[in-house]
Amino acid sequence: MSCFVGRVKELKNVSIDCFLNSNIYSTAYFLSHCHTDHMRGLRSDIFLKRLRSEAHIYLYCSEITAHILTVETTFAALMHKIKVLPLGVSTIVQILDPDGSSEDVTVSVIPTGHCPGAVMFLFEGEMGKILYTGDFRLCEGDVSRFRQLHHLDGSVKVIDKLYVDTTFLSHQYMQFPSRLSSISILCNLITSWLQEGSDNDIYIQMPAKYGSEAVFIAVAKRLGMKVHVSSSAYNIYKNIAEIQEAVTDNPCCTRIHACQAYNWRFCDETAILPCQGKLSKLRIIKPCALSFTSEVYDGSLESAVLKCNDQELFKICYSSHCSYREVEHFIRYLKPRQIEACVVPRNMKEADILRLLKEVSRWGDSFTDAPVLTVSSSKGTENGMSTDMTSVCSVRLTEQQNMSTSDNETDVNKAYGGNVQNGGHHVDPEIYKLIAEDFKPKIGDSDMDIRQSISLEFLEYAAGQNSSLV
Ligand SMILES: [Zn+2]
Ligand SMILES: [Zn+2]
Ligand SMILES: [Zn+2]
Repeated sequence: MSCFVGRVKELKNVSIDCFLNSNIYSTAYFLSHCHTDHMRGLRSDIFLKRLRSEAHIYLYCSEITAHILTVETTFAALMHKIKVLPLGVSTIVQILDPDGSSEDVTVSVIPTGHCPGAVMFLFEGEMGKILYTGDFRLCEGDVSRFRQLHHLDGSVKVIDKLYVDTTFLSHQYMQFPSRLSSISILCNLITSWLQEGSDNDIYIQMPAKYGSEAVFIAVAKRLGMKVHVSSSAYNIYKNIAEIQEAVTDNPCCTRIHACQAYNWRFCDETAILPCQGKLSKLRIIKPCALSFTSEVYDGSLESAVLKCNDQELFKICYSSHCSYREVEHFIRYLKPRQIEACVVPRNMKEADILRLLKEVSRWGDSFTDAPVLTVSSSKGTENGMSTDMTSVCSVRLTEQQNMSTSDNETDVNKAYGGNVQNGGHHVDPEIYKLIAEDFKPKIGDSDMDIRQSISLEFLEYAAGQNSSLV
């Protein structure tokens, strides 16, 4: 989960992927993709009011992200305030300053392979070259293909500061199979089960609201069968040509389901598929990455699949974030002058991520080549109000951070993979409410009780933050 606070200090009137607190008063907003941890504050009244009422202030995003947003009535009414940055083209964006001056910045969007519409932003201007990856999954070699990151003569542009997704920058996740390999395994599991009997059906359990759509596209192409999705998902996908062809909202015309809104019961290989109202023999396939630590996934295809509890339940290693090796390759290719980690991975502290960043950013002989390393952190937010500079906590490797947390915080951290660190400072209660919302169980969740208790814990935590602000 991103702990990026929304501001790049090199561009003082720009907010990216966080629309809370002082970020609201920026004059240009950028959204990398539609995942909750990157949309904090986007639906708040105060943000929407500012976007609606201030002339020349826009939200910039990719075309698909704009499609996904405008399915919601709120954003449909604000279409004129959402500006699409086309892929493969550099756009000049005028960034206004409250003093009346302005600065022209060239912005290029580069697809990140994370989920539909996800892009990274390259900002170029007087402040230098700033690259913000958002969430990304690029395999080794992908980065060399992006024209926007190279000069006309083919040399790599010097990135002054890289803001990078470090979700799996951990020795626990050294490598992942390519998505093509994961999809091949998945298609084999589907085909073998469907051929075994005419009552057999497939249920693909998506790990997040968006992110595995490439699976649907590949399955539909390879197996010639669409994937049944919930009508709310279909409403979004029908605007995205490539996905639309791969999915259906008709439960009866396919044997492959990913209709998350439905409840299914799993019992001795026989499950009720309520979207069809009949008993089926279900094989459940769950694309996910967390379970595939380096002890589990050794690079072989066999180790990229886990069969669970003698049931027809399979986990397939499928990641929409870069592995350690992929982040390393990306960073070593670009050799940026400064790097800021935007995610503190589960069970890790800022000092750990700084040590790992140092490990992957060794190049050249000279010590002076070494980039300056920092970690984005909400630690700088005081009384729920972040200020421009305190919102980015710059930590040199030589500094030891005191990461002491209260018992309550430790539990919450454990529950949410260790990402919520406030170091004794106040965090905007809205963040905890959003996390609570994220954890709220949906109908049919197998871990409903756990999700419910974590969700309540975050709500209580939000209430605690609220009362301490009074
Ligand atoms: Zn994220
Ligand atoms: Zn994401
Ligand atoms: Zn279905």
